[in-house]
Amino acid sequence: MINIFFFSFSPFSENTYVLFDETDEAVIIDPGCLSQAEKERLSRFIEDKKLTVKALLQTHTHLDHVFGSAYVKRKFKVKMYMHRLDLPVLSDVELRCKTWGIGGYEPVEADEFLEEGDVFEFGNSKLDIVHVPGHAPGHIAFISHADKFIIGGDCLFKGSIGRTDFPLCSHEDLMNSIRNKFFTLPDDYRVYAGHMDPTTIGAEKKYNPFFN
Ligand SMILES: [Zn+2]
Repeated sequence: MINIFFFSFSPFSENTYVLFDETDEAVIIDPGCLSQAEKERLSRFIEDKKLTVKALLQTHTHLDHVFGSAYVKRKFKVKMYMHRLDLPVLSDVELRCKTWGIGGYEPVEADEFLEEGDVFEFGNSKLDIVHVPGHAPGHIAFISHADKFIIGGDCLFKGSIGRTDFPLCSHEDLMNSIRNKFFTLPDDYRVYAGHMDPTTIGAEKKYNPFFN
């Protein structure tokens, strides 16, 4: 069974996820830790739980989701996995940080690429990869059918949806991704998003104002 723990990091209140199972193998998804104190909070959690981090996974690579990616790669000696179509987003992060006056970002490069239909395994667990473009061109989500959840990044939020006013965004693609990849999951699946509290597929189908 996969345990899910998340931190809310940086002034963007970005959710950084640690997933681990009974083998104590773990993956870190979207490390948004920016300050040294935040990086140490993440590391201390891994050490306290005696977890072995197997990989760094990215739902997408907007700046708030990669603030701590270089740190995680180096600290835990793991590879960074992302979708190839998000490479232009990642390569733009350094410039965006400068433009917005955000200090402390350390540039990072991907090691491996994931795409629709891939299955990522760690410990006794597996995550199905779906491509959910719209908020970012190479946005992916991680689904556990065994544990009934989706790590959905910035697509579907509790009562809201991801922004599409950034470069390379598409509102139409985002709506299609949510309809075809999220809302085709059973109602009791939990949705863990890149910001705000978890929700469920059923609750969003029923109450999300963008679909009602
Ligand atoms: Zn984003």
